[in-house]
Amino acid sequence: MNYKSTRDNSISVKSSEAIAKGLSAEGGLFVPDSIPVISQTNIKYMADMSYCERAKEILGRFLTDFTEDELDKCITSAYTKEKFETNSIAPVYKLNNSQYILELWHGPTCAFKDMALQILPHLLTTSVKKLGLDRETVILVATSGDTGKAALEGFKDVDGTKIIVFFPDEGVSSIQRLQMCTQEGDNVFVSAVNGNFDDAQNGVKAIFTDKEYEKELLADKKALSSANSINWGRLVPQIVYYFSAYCDMVKAEEIQCGDEVNICVPTGNFGNILAAYYAKCMGLPVKKLICASNKNNVLTDFINTGVYDRNRDFFVTTSPSMDILISSNLERLLYMISGGRADVVSAYMAELKEKGTYTVSDDIKKEIGENFYGGCADDEKCAETIKETYDKFSYVTDTHTSVAVSVHNEYMKNTGDDTKTIIASTASPFKFNGAVLSALDKDTQTAELDEFRLLEKLAKDYELRVPSSLAGLEEKEVRFEVVCDKNQMKAVINEFLKN
Ligand SMILES: *Cc1c(COP(=O)(O)O)cnc(C)c1O
Repeated sequence: MNYKSTRDNSISVKSSEAIAKGLSAEGGLFVPDSIPVISQTNIKYMADMSYCERAKEILGRFLTDFTEDELDKCITSAYTKEKFETNSIAPVYKLNNSQYILELWHGPTCAFKDMALQILPHLLTTSVKKLGLDRETVILVATSGDTGKAALEGFKDVDGTKIIVFFPDEGVSSIQRLQMCTQEGDNVFVSAVNGNFDDAQNGVKAIFTDKEYEKELLADKKALSSANSINWGRLVPQIVYYFSAYCDMVKAEEIQCGDEVNICVPTGNFGNILAAYYAKCMGLPVKKLICASNKNNVLTDFINTGVYDRNRDFFVTTSPSMDILISSNLERLLYMISGGRADVVSAYMAELKEKGTYTVSDDIKKEIGENFYGGCADDEKCAETIKETYDKFSYVTDTHTSVAVSVHNEYMKNTGDDTKTIIASTASPFKFNGAVLSALDKDTQTAELDEFRLLEKLAKDYELRVPSSLAGLEEKEVRFEVVCDKNQMKAVINEFLKN
């Protein structure tokens, strides 16, 4: 199987090239040139497999230039009991007869980005080696919090890589800061940048586009790369857990192999729900894909009207990982749904860049409507749903998951469809403890407690266990205390790379 670009059909590269490059040269995203089929007999077999074995089935269909041995190594290095604190890696929790919570947050940073970022470093270094590129990969990340930590955990001590993360000095919570500044590993570096997230991100972007710097690094056998969510190597591992959840439900006799399910996903960049769409196209019996947004509901409007319009107010919400106005992975969906029309996709993307909006054709709109349902929930609705879910089912969800549960409740009410639904749970409630605690108990004075006291309170009041990666944080040694100016970022990188 080869990979094309969403913006140029004449491009055709192997999976290792797609992963090593990240983005196609003309700005398009890499997409597989055909969709592998997993039959129901396959799914039945997979029901008796471990998560790693299921991952091998799925990844093997897409990464066809990887040897079995290479795939095995990547998968078993990523999905271990030590890192995920559970053998099942991504367990399914039955809330009630219609709602099944797929817990994607048992990894080292307690959020679903670990599912992809634990394996990406291995896929990337294997790809670089396969292509015969004699170079060290230097991962550069600007982060507003969660992605940076997940990338650090994924890349730490992976041979052939170094990783440097910049975060805005004013823009992360105290737990997020501690998580990053106590990071272990011999190949990692973390620095705060004076300013806000845009300052950090613009600084990183300027370094990525600096041709002279690229040459300098190459002379030293180094190449910059990003751990960005548009890399195919981050998307493909996400397809696995939808098959895995379905297999778990078959195994637990909640469904029979072949029964249709719905999948509901709290969405930001459209990566996670796109993976579910790929699963559907591959033959997983999925009826509707329910796309849940917070108050930044650009996707809800798009699914319902066919008009994508980013010219709107941006809201800061209690589900910050979904506060996004440009969902970059949507480009892959448009490519698939238009039947591989790179010219059509390029035109939409050019309009988006120029005017901030585009309108899809009636055919595309219809096809999207047949596959997807779009809904949204604001902070108030999200908080109500956290409380209601706990009161009814004694289960605590984080804010992002609650947006999904809320939209799914509304979907059932509006459509009368109570098909069993896999709801992707993208973060541990401990990650957003302040918002979760005040939703569960309006009298909680969250402002008076520091984040560690909030962790303890959430655990004590609701009989939960603080994830070990957060529990020990307060006592850990701070390894990184550098704060630099925007124009010093390159110097910080050079200083680190010297060693
Ligand atoms: C990144 C993230 C999301 C959004 O996922 P996309 O793939 O960008 O749609 C949702 N919830 C949490 C907790 C996240 O970290």
